[in-house]
Amino acid sequence: MYKPYRACPICSIEDATFVHEVKFALFDKHPMKNGYNVIQCNGCSFVYADTHVTQDELDIYYKELSKYEDKNIGTGGGFTPEDKDRLVKTAVFIEEHVPDKNIRIADIGCANGGLLKELKHLGFQNLVGVDPSASCVDITIAEVGCEAYQYSIFNIDKNIGKFDLVILSHVLEHILDLPSIMDRLNELVVDGGLIYVECPDAENYYKIIHAPFQEFNTEHINHFTEISFENLAALHGYNKIFTSNKTLKLPSGEDYHAVYGLFKKAPNPNYTLKKDDIILENIEVYIQESDKIFKEIEQEITDIDVIQQVALYGIGQFAFKLLTSPALYNRKLKLFDNNDINIGKAINGRLVLAANTIAKEFLKEEFTIVITSLIHEDGIRKQIQGAFKSSGKFPVIKGFKKLLTKEQSYAHSTF
Ligand SMILES: [Zn+2]
Repeated sequence: MYKPYRACPICSIEDATFVHEVKFALFDKHPMKNGYNVIQCNGCSFVYADTHVTQDELDIYYKELSKYEDKNIGTGGGFTPEDKDRLVKTAVFIEEHVPDKNIRIADIGCANGGLLKELKHLGFQNLVGVDPSASCVDITIAEVGCEAYQYSIFNIDKNIGKFDLVILSHVLEHILDLPSIMDRLNELVVDGGLIYVECPDAENYYKIIHAPFQEFNTEHINHFTEISFENLAALHGYNKIFTSNKTLKLPSGEDYHAVYGLFKKAPNPNYTLKKDDIILENIEVYIQESDKIFKEIEQEITDIDVIQQVALYGIGQFAFKLLTSPALYNRKLKLFDNNDINIGKAINGRLVLAANTIAKEFLKEEFTIVITSLIHEDGIRKQIQGAFKSSGKFPVIKGFKKLLTKEQSYAHSTF
């Protein structure tokens, strides 16, 4: 038996099984420190991150992030064709199950109001957006012409009133304390009202690997499936109407599996927890496939001449993991990133430099560039080529996107 720091966020028991250790080298002062274990609850089979981070620490971290971040997922803005298509489908699904156009609907974590806009097109009149980001709230008001308020899910003012339908899309995978969120949700939903929930689909992580271990990151600490949605909802007084999974397109063009469900507020005291017999097996395949790709990447880095300096380009979830690898021990190393929120921060005391200074830094001492944002590799190569255009010397660039395609087809062929 493994005694977790974090009780199961669904059934609240403290009895779990170790699944995988995730190691990070994070920005100095990041609340998650060196990583966490992924574990499985022995009561309800839920797979989650056993982090000792607190909700207050996470809130401060998200508050800072939201000042800069462009939200690509969540209910998005619908500004790209893929994003709009995804939001139209969700709105149509809601319309099929909720024919009354006068009901009051809240989208918690509404981002730029993309889903609310599609619901409005379908004739829903009574729409409210909620988002922790002030700019998202402003954009929602301007684009949708509905009410929108700046609240985090934890501090929604009671004066906002009650709703017939509350939407939580790509929110619950981030929440440390799910029971308290469900209690707050209960204050917002009328008796007989509905909740729509959507998250990354843990049962299908293995099918598309965007980068090794990408789904075990600093932000996604709960790994939902149809069964865990149903268990969570039922334990807090919601009956299942419908659950399923679907494939979304990310703005990068990659597919992404999501799980979603619609639940009705109608307590069922006789509900017994459902066990999930598939989740662990599928997560284990995901771990094996990720591990293979990770090891190949480590090997390619180890093969770079030891006297050669290495520059990591793209300081995100994959770089956080790669920086813990022995392949980078005792290497001269530089870190580069495009995102203003990362530039000037430090990892183990090493500063993240602005990507647009890369050619200048190269002139001081040459390095091999390792692209550490796998799904954005093509765009980053172009940026690097642009940066070195007027320079007489070009760096060696290593990218690992090629490894993903191979592994992906392998993963499919095993099932
Ligand atoms: Zn549990």
